[in-house]
Amino acid sequence: MTDEKKQLVLPGVLTVKELAELINVPVTTVIKQLLGNGVLATINDNLDFETAAVVADDLGFEAALEPTETMSEDSAEKPKEVAGEPRAPIVTVMGHVDHGKTSLLDYIRKTKVVEGESGGITQHIGAYQVDYNGRRITFLDTPGHEAFSTIRAQGTKVTDVAILVVAADEGIKPQTIEAIELARAAGVPLIVAITKIDKPEANVMRVEQELAAHNIVTEKWGGKDVVIGVSAKTGQGVDELLELVLLTADLAELRAPAEGLAEGVVIESKHDPKVGALATLLIQRGKLQVGDPFVVGNHFGKVKAMEDYLGKRVKQAGPAQPVLVTGFTAPPSVGEVLAAVASDKTAREIIAQRNKRATSRQMSVRTSDLARLASQIRSSQLHHINIVLKADVQGSLEAIKQQLEKIKTDKGQIRIVAEGLGNIGESDVQSAAGENGFVVGFKVAVSPSARRTAKKDDIKVLTYDIIYELTDDLTRILLDSIGPEKIETSMGRATILKIFRDARHEKILGMKVISGKAQLGNTVRFFNENKEPIGEGEIKLIKRVAEEVSEATAGDDFGFQIVTHAKVKEGDAAEFVRVDYRKVSLK
Ligand code: GDP
Repeated sequence: MTDEKKQLVLPGVLTVKELAELINVPVTTVIKQLLGNGVLATINDNLDFETAAVVADDLGFEAALEPTETMSEDSAEKPKEVAGEPRAPIVTVMGHVDHGKTSLLDYIRKTKVVEGESGGITQHIGAYQVDYNGRRITFLDTPGHEAFSTIRAQGTKVTDVAILVVAADEGIKPQTIEAIELARAAGVPLIVAITKIDKPEANVMRVEQELAAHNIVTEKWGGKDVVIGVSAKTGQGVDELLELVLLTADLAELRAPAEGLAEGVVIESKHDPKVGALATLLIQRGKLQVGDPFVVGNHFGKVKAMEDYLGKRVKQAGPAQPVLVTGFTAPPSVGEVLAAVASDKTAREIIAQRNKRATSRQMSVRTSDLARLASQIRSSQLHHINIVLKADVQGSLEAIKQQLEKIKTDKGQIRIVAEGLGNIGESDVQSAAGENGFVVGFKVAVSPSARRTAKKDDIKVLTYDIIYELTDDLTRILLDSIGPEKIETSMGRATILKIFRDARHEKILGMKVISGKAQLGNTVRFFNENKEPIGEGEIKLIKRVAEEVSEATAGDDFGFQIVTHAKVKEGDAAEFVRVDYRKVSLK
């Protein structure tokens, strides 16, 4: 026999029974192997590919994942990848807090947005477009890396160009480096805007040197990176910055089909008491029209109304255009892709298929999670509290996350294992269950199915309308789980002179206090002549001659009644220790 493994092709999800049949072993063998890997599964449980592959490997097979049919449902609807028309670049502004992201975005919006009949932007919709030299540029108006990462995490590349803001008076800071890394990881071209150059303490040269240390080298220093000084106060450099954005975009030859069924990414989502769920979309391809049926996540809907970034009602929207859309059945999550479809019927069919797939995926995830959970609990003495966080708008989500970061002690912290916007759905409860955590919502509702699942699986769902109530509760939950901290203070020492009574669990000892003191209630630790600990007890009574006292001080002999199992003898040493419990507080 050789070591060569037999090849085996497995689907993405299969039952324990199917796996046993495929590798031709009894079901019990598979179940045993699973158990060995910490997965408790029965014959009809679903396994994901990874779990199945581990078992197969244990049984001498090398498993490969079966190529999936190319998402037939979606591809039928998807407009074909054609080059399409040139489209506006989509720009995100990133950088360290207070370095001027918002100011720069505001300045550009105020001075460069072509004011339509409505007289400029009346409400904030998370993105806007400017006209520069007869060309359009779309700005994502949600500064901060979270938005960038959330949208990216869902697998959609939204940004074409990133502007990295670095304040001329402060230079590179941790979030600057994070932004550089994020943009690099996403393969998004970066333009560095050194802001606040109007300030007297601005030092562009120093910033450029710091940038060079992070491999961003300007042309001036012999590199290829684009760096420009700007001021959101005087407007200096802003035109050049826009020019550079267009130049960078030209290199990428951005195109998208302007006709056909639309696809767009959700960049903001909220619930409005009057109109229900509404979301800002950035159209990626095609033409979205009022009346179009669509699918997004696990929901379908129909475009009821659309507004552009100026708050003007529009009937249609095309590539790189931000629009506020109503007509959802539930608030979609940020980063999800909305796809227009040909008919209501298609929309329903797609959702049915997606739900089916999601269910089998969830079931398989569950079984493999068991193993992970078990090892987590074993390996960790830390009291991390895992939560799934849902909020109504990105702004509150960010604010809450910042607050939650502060809730930590040496023994544990609050960990956000998943986050999103919109109401709490069944999948949120399932994510929380998978992480042995619970769901926290801010200004969102709990869907009936989520409520049912939470009840069935005993998963806590907490909702709030006030941020400090949320943070107070989570602080309490964390501290409760850690419990009080035990603080020991050494009080004094003594030597056992005489044993008056030596019952199994109680002694009466005559001791000489040689240093410090002893108090009623103190813990007593006994040590033999080799200074080895031999047990401990608690002082019940102290007597000086015949008189009861509350403490014994150094220099004198006292009688002690002590509850203890320690086997002591004359000449052994005792240490008195005061034990206090202190509520743990945050760092
Ligand atoms: P963000 O946290 O990155 O969005 O930073 P902000 O845009 O809120 O700016 C932080 C502070 O810097 C604010 O007090 C702004 O007024 C100030 N600031 C931003 N840009 C400039 C600028 O170009 N020049 C000057 N003098 N101050 C600026």
